[in-house]
Amino acid sequence: MQPPKSAICVICGIRPATTDEHVPPKGFFKGLSGQFRTVPSCSRCNNDSSYDDEALRFYISAQLGKRTESTKLLWEKGAHKSILRSTKLRFTFLNTLQEVAAKNLNGETISHLAFLVPESLYQRVFERVTRGLYFWHRGIILPASTPVKINLLLNTPDLDDPELMLFESNSIADDAFEYKYGIDPQDSCNSLWIFGLHKSHWIKASTGLLTCDVC
Ligand SMILES: [Zn+2]
Repeated sequence: MQPPKSAICVICGIRPATTDEHVPPKGFFKGLSGQFRTVPSCSRCNNDSSYDDEALRFYISAQLGKRTESTKLLWEKGAHKSILRSTKLRFTFLNTLQEVAAKNLNGETISHLAFLVPESLYQRVFERVTRGLYFWHRGIILPASTPVKINLLLNTPDLDDPELMLFESNSIADDAFEYKYGIDPQDSCNSLWIFGLHKSHWIKASTGLLTCDVC
């Protein structure tokens, strides 16, 4: 499929597109080949995203560990290098560390260090991914006024759920990035997306009215 073109940045929907942005960020799939997707973006959206992408890659990699070949490559060729190189990233990470209480095998309360999941970072990075892929599939820009809400899913979603079966499935980078999405045929601003990274890290995005918790 030929990716659609746009003279306007599909991320902010405002400034002229002068460059291409990878959605999802290519750095999330170190050492993997495959058909990566790019969408037209302005240089500001593109440049502003680099630090966020690198920081989120570190957090994702730290949570995934080195359990599969693709997550091992992500850590060794990407995340580990970033934390060694970037003082800002090290400082940000150390700032999110906190002592939490947990029970050990004997039932005793112990404390250990854990890091806080940076929700605003997930929101910024995956809002960009959602807007980019929305354009990639539909060929129209999701209006800047349409909200996008990102939620980190704690459990692996049941992708065989009959409701999700209706959604279109896609995969990129040797299946290291899979996603499903559905768009409301009555009002295309409403859409729902499930993103899966390295088959073990799941994120939900909703747009338009679906971001409302009440309706
Ligand atoms: Zn832009």
